[in-house]
Amino acid sequence: MIDRDHCLALDAGDPLRAFRDEFVLPEGVVYLVGNSLGALPRGAAERVRRAVEDEWGGQLVGGWNHAGWYAQPLTAGDRLAPLIGAGPGQVVVGNTTSIAIYQAVAAALRLRPERRVIVSDVRNFPTDHYMVQGLAGLLGGYEIRDVSEGRFDDAAVVLLAEVDYRTGARHDVPAVTAQVQEAGALMVWDVCHSVGAMKVDVSGADFAVGCTYKYLNAGPGAPAFLYVNPRHHATAENVLSGWHGHAEPFAFEAGYRPAEGIRRFAIGTPHVLSFAALEAALDVWERVPMDQIRAKSMALTSLFVDLVGDALELVSPADAAARGSQVSLRHPDGYPVMRALIDRGVHGDFRAPDVLRFGFAPLYIRYTDVYDAAATLLEVLDRELWRDEKYARRLAVT
Ligand SMILES: *Cc1c(COP(=O)(O)O)cnc(C)c1O
Repeated sequence: MIDRDHCLALDAGDPLRAFRDEFVLPEGVVYLVGNSLGALPRGAAERVRRAVEDEWGGQLVGGWNHAGWYAQPLTAGDRLAPLIGAGPGQVVVGNTTSIAIYQAVAAALRLRPERRVIVSDVRNFPTDHYMVQGLAGLLGGYEIRDVSEGRFDDAAVVLLAEVDYRTGARHDVPAVTAQVQEAGALMVWDVCHSVGAMKVDVSGADFAVGCTYKYLNAGPGAPAFLYVNPRHHATAENVLSGWHGHAEPFAFEAGYRPAEGIRRFAIGTPHVLSFAALEAALDVWERVPMDQIRAKSMALTSLFVDLVGDALELVSPADAAARGSQVSLRHPDGYPVMRALIDRGVHGDFRAPDVLRFGFAPLYIRYTDVYDAAATLLEVLDRELWRDEKYARRLAVT
């Protein structure tokens, strides 16, 4: 049996152990929700203070030119690009993942006007599927087909998540991308649950989207990103044709003329204060050896699976290579079980109807955290601590 001393030794030998000190983590909390909202990087408060006091307060509107605000969607995109296997000038940052999905799928449909099928995944994070439904409803005449049918030969576009938010199951990105493209469809990857948890490479895809507030740790409400393969830069259109994607936003022309390159996918004024926190998060990522991230992530999730044993049904793939950086477990009373855990300092989350999710952010989660989380979970189950009625009432955010 693995004991806590063994986990202490694993922590001592962890090549990523110093990164934990770069985050603010409350005492007595085992935070296994970094796949929903990443922890606060120590540098973020100072960077945001600078954006507020020095840039906004000191430069006022001059900040657009002199503090780099106007260029943020592209400068942040260039810094983020290596995390998804992309190069400079291929990623634009801003808005939300939902909006980026809309842009990517709409652009793909315009590149394949002769095809009328959108392949999506009903099990995907709902907003992805909802955005497709809204777009198809607006356009009319489109069929939305579930990926489980496995037919792409008449599809215009296929939208999938690299890692499933509920189960943690992971797609083979290069293999699926090749299959979709050989069928003549365009591939859009959503990497919300993989970026920052593993080496992501969407360079073969047509489009990719993701958020920065999960494993990337850029904070609540942080902007999303959109990757567009350079082979589409001259022809892909941004249906959300806002002024920041115009060739000359400050010419204030009456007609829309798209900018060259990735800038045409910008829409409107960037969320400057949120970008400041993202910059602090990227300051950390620039120093992270990404090979170590995946190795540690697999070790953490495997340790948790081993320690929990057969106390609960494993929803995630049993093979660490086939899952992301999370472990999902099933319990019919999952909600009160999670509330009882949180009450004891172990923070995971709950996804209806019966899934307990535990995310293991390899930058700041220790092997001893995994040990403590599993021990607490086993205690909550053994002693049926979750039956206390105070855990039954649902809060708005689960
Ligand atoms: C977290 C997540 C989103 C979030 O979308 P927002 O518009 O940024 O709120 C979308 N898709 C997936 C797969 C996610 O995991």
